[in-house]
Order: sequence, then C-alpha cells, then structure tokens
Amino acid sequence: MDFEPDQEQRALAERAFELGATLNDGLPERVRAGRFDRELWRRCGEFGLLGLSVPTADGGLGLDSLSTALVIESFAKGCQDLGLLFSACAHLFACVMPIAEHGSAELRTRLLPKLVSGEWIGANAITEPEAGSDVHALRTTAIRDGDHYVLNGVKSFVTNSPVADHLLVYARTSPADGHLGLSAFVVDRHSPRLTVGARFAKPGLATAPMAPVYLDDCRVPAANRLGPEGAGSTIFAGSMAWERSCLFAAYLGAMDRQLAQTISHVTTRKQFRKPLSRHQAVAHRIADMKLRLEGARLLLYRACSRRDRGVDSTLEVSLAKLAVSEAAIQNALDAIQLHGASGFLSEGGVVDALGDALPSTIFSGTSEIHRDLIARGLGL
Ligand SMILES: Cc1cc2nc3c(=O)[nH]c(=O)nc-3n(C[C@H](O)[C@H](O)[C@H](O)COP(=O)(O)OP(=O)(O)OC[C@H]3O[C@@H](n4cnc5c(N)ncnc54)[C@H](O)[C@@H]3O)c2cc1C
Repeated sequence: MDFEPDQEQRALAERAFELGATLNDGLPERVRAGRFDRELWRRCGEFGLLGLSVPTADGGLGLDSLSTALVIESFAKGCQDLGLLFSACAHLFACVMPIAEHGSAELRTRLLPKLVSGEWIGANAITEPEAGSDVHALRTTAIRDGDHYVLNGVKSFVTNSPVADHLLVYARTSPADGHLGLSAFVVDRHSPRLTVGARFAKPGLATAPMAPVYLDDCRVPAANRLGPEGAGSTIFAGSMAWERSCLFAAYLGAMDRQLAQTISHVTTRKQFRKPLSRHQAVAHRIADMKLRLEGARLLLYRACSRRDRGVDSTLEVSLAKLAVSEAAIQNALDAIQLHGASGFLSEGGVVDALGDALPSTIFSGTSEIHRDLIARGLGL
C-alpha cells in the first residue's frame, strides 16, 4: 500500500503547517491560563480546518479520511498548541460530522455554515458520571412532549462546553437497555435549563476547555434530533470512527516535531566530550522513538485508507488509536529523559507534550477498551 500524498494533498498539508506555525505566539501564557482563543479558532475556520471532512455542499472541504488526517498531522507539526487542535477535532469529528452525516436538510443548512466557518463552536456530550467506558449505560433521558423533547441528566467531561454554541447530546428515548434506546440531539448552549459547570483544570491540552453539563427539564425541538429515535448509538459509533482515526493524526504531527527537536538537542549537547547522540544508549532511544512514530503512522494511514474504501475497519482503527496514543506517551517520556533537567522545565515546553499525550489513552475509548475490540476482531 502506498500512502504517498499526491500533489494536492501535499500542498494543502504544507499550507496547514504554515498556518499552525503562525499560531504559537503567546502559547506559554495561554497554557498557564488555560485560555481558549476565539481569534485563533476563527483563523482555523477561515483555513477550512473546522470543516475538513464536511461535504463541500455544506461549506466544508469535502476531504476523505486520509486527506483529513494528513492535514491535521501537518497542522500539528507546525502548531504547538495541541489543545487548540484537540478542540477543533472534538468539534469537527464528534459534533459537526454527525450533523453533516445524519442531520436533516434544515439542520445542515442552519448549523453547518457557521460551525465550519468558525463563527460557532460545537461539543459532544455523551459521558456521564456512571457511564464512561460503558457508554451505553447512560441515564440522561429525553421524553417526547409534543414537538419537543424534555432532557434530564448530567454529562461529565464535555470538551468545548464552556465556549460552545451547540452541543450534541446523547440521551435515552426508550427504556430499552443498551444501544437501542439512545438518540442524539443538537442542543443550543443557551437553552433555558442547560447549565455548564465550572471548567476543569488539566495538566495537558490546557487550551481545550472542558466542563460538566447539566440538563434539568431542558426543552429541545424534536426537529433537532439527528436521524430516527434509537439511532444514537450508530451516530456515536460513526463519530468515534472519525475521531479515532483522524484526531489521532494530531499526535503524529506532535511526535514528529518532538523527534526533530530531540535530535537537535542530542546532537548539539555534549557530555563526556562528545555529543549525547554518540552515546549508544541515547541513539537507541531516538531509534525507538522513530520506530514507534512510523509504526503508528502506518497503522493510522492504513485505517484511514480502509475507511475511505468503505472496507470494514473497526479492528484497524482500534490498532491505530492504540498505537498512536501509547507511542505519544512513551515518546514524550523519552524526550524528557533525553533533555535531562531542561526537559522537565515548564519553560522549555518539552514536558508539556507528556501532559498532552496522557489523556490520549483515555478519550475516544481507553486502551483497555481498544484491546477488547482488537481481541473481539480476532474472534477471541
Ligand atoms: C481530555 C479528555 C477529553 C474528553 N472529552 C469528552 C467529550 O468531549 N465528551 C464526552 O462525552 N466525554 C469526553 N471525555 C470522557 C471520555 O470519553 C471518558 O473519560 C472515557 O470514555 C473513559 O471513561 P471514564 O473516564 O469514566 O473511565 P472509566 O470507564 O471509569 O474507566 C476507568 C478505568 O477502568 C478501565 N475499564 C473500564 N471498563 C473496563 C473493562 N470492561 N475492561 C477493562 N478495563 C476497563 C478503563 O480502561 C480505565 O482504565 C473526555 C476525556 C478526556 C480525558
């Protein structure tokens, strides 16, 4: 399989790199303050980043999965603000794509242009205090009342919720257990009786705001439901397939940038009268970082390519997600080790990659859940 980008993909990826590289000013201050920057968001929208995979008829760039992943990887190579990119990907893959793929014509026309341009921000609210990995145990209810549904429940870790305009909320429309009773609703952030709680402080992805969301008899127009009643689980699975493949391309770009920076450090810093890189233990650690990155990259490109060809890719997507996230953590640890004490200082930014990488084995399905999916794919 050849994943060499064509001329068009390469040109777009290069422009994404250039945009990303212009968004690093003031990053340490933004990270310290945990500040989401609307102006940077607007610039991402202007470029098309917030609608990469959205059909052109709905205002997006209409890219397939592999092209989308290439652009995101390249953006992350230039942009050190992984929190910003994480916010953009959560918005695109877990809120905007479900609307593009399952929304009525009215919803798509009303919502997508502004979500894609950067005027609006989207979020995805499924996790609950008692429903994390076991997402189908969620308890939020949506009871039909005329031409509305009345939503009640708590969503625990909603990325973008403190700044979002619209949330994709999953709720139970039927008492049926498990996946058959779930439906998905687009809920206006400013709906009466919807409250966003206090923002969580996080040691990574600091510029991507996250908070709980409370729905207390919150009325949502029935027209805001995506697909038929009971389609929630299918819609969520589709959004996770996007997220587990394309969002994780961000970590490939970040690892690539980190590897270049680490190689530069070990070839210039001398100990025992020679560059660190001339010590075999150091060079081997670099070789391992490269091996992890390239292996993860190939798995991710293959997963995207299979998705684009319409071939079942559940197993391949899980392999890619697992490989990228675990590589991101190990490579971040190696980069810190190879930088010595300077790698541990907040001001150098080396240690930040670890904070950004740590949650990647938790969101979009934990490593344990993906090992389960892989085992199931192997018939175990
Ligand atoms: C940075 C970040 C952003 C997030 N953004 C969002 C968002 O935008 N919207 C949203 O809805 N949610 C979001 N989440 C929540 C995320 O989806 C959940 O954290 C995730 O599904 C895991 O659920 P949990 O945290 O409740 O952990 P739990 O499910 O309680 O798991 C705890 C541990 O137990 C293990 N475990 C659980 N079940 C099994 C099993 N069957 N076998 C073996 N081990 C198991 C897990 O793998 C994990 O190691 C985000 C999380 C993070 C960290």
